[in-house]
Amino acid sequence: MHLIGLCDNYRQWAMAAHESDFVPTMQPSIDASGHRYVHVVGSSVWVHDSCADTQWTTHFLGMHGDTACWGVDVPHGQDPADGAAVDLRTFFGRATETEWAVAGRAVQLVEWGRTHKFCGRCATPTLIADNERAYTCPTCRLMSFPRLAPAVITLVTRGHGDDEEALLARGVQWQIPMYSCLAGFVEPGENLEQAVAREILEEVGIWVADVQYVASQPWPFPHSLMLGFRARYDHGDIVCDATEIMDANWYRRDALPMIPPGISIARRLIDDWLAS
Ligand SMILES: [Zn+2]
Repeated sequence: MHLIGLCDNYRQWAMAAHESDFVPTMQPSIDASGHRYVHVVGSSVWVHDSCADTQWTTHFLGMHGDTACWGVDVPHGQDPADGAAVDLRTFFGRATETEWAVAGRAVQLVEWGRTHKFCGRCATPTLIADNERAYTCPTCRLMSFPRLAPAVITLVTRGHGDDEEALLARGVQWQIPMYSCLAGFVEPGENLEQAVAREILEEVGIWVADVQYVASQPWPFPHSLMLGFRARYDHGDIVCDATEIMDANWYRRDALPMIPPGISIARRLIDDWLAS
């Protein structure tokens, strides 16, 4: 179990908290008025104002207003929620946007802890670092930080005015006939704009230009950071990579297929386009 001492630089994070009501910090504020424990059961969450078992490993998440938030690693085979824990997609409909982000952070940090118990280089059991979010190896000093996998997601458009069209695609894994923006992970050695262009070319054979960043979104399934872009069609005909894309088409605003729910940044990219 990792119990972390109280933070004395309250003023610094309180100023940041003024701009956002959740601040991811290393330690709780000395002025915390309460605690919230996000119990991570498998990859599902159950939130309670006390920790179900103080012997379980906890990760401090940050301050939500003046509430100290913790992630609790519920050991495999145990369930303090008696089946009431819900996956993050379900939790999205039951929580505020901030509460959902805090729960997502809990899942990511708990999963990071579960998968970094041993050094990746020499297999020695790791220790939690004292003053930063890391596991360290006492033998070879390798440090392991929380894993984030950046992924780009892009809405490609062509044409103008009422005739403008967006390129939407259905993934081969999707059980429902939903169409969304094209997405993929950033490769080592490329920048974000290059990742956008490469992914779209690989998945549907389209060349794009004028790649513009729009917004980002933590995506804890299990540890992505989604980076949303717009891009303009340049040239090429749609040729789907059958290993990833079942179908892709150009759609006008007045003839859209089923699009993703509000939880995803894909939906925001599409909604922004619809409103433009
Ligand atoms: Zn090591």
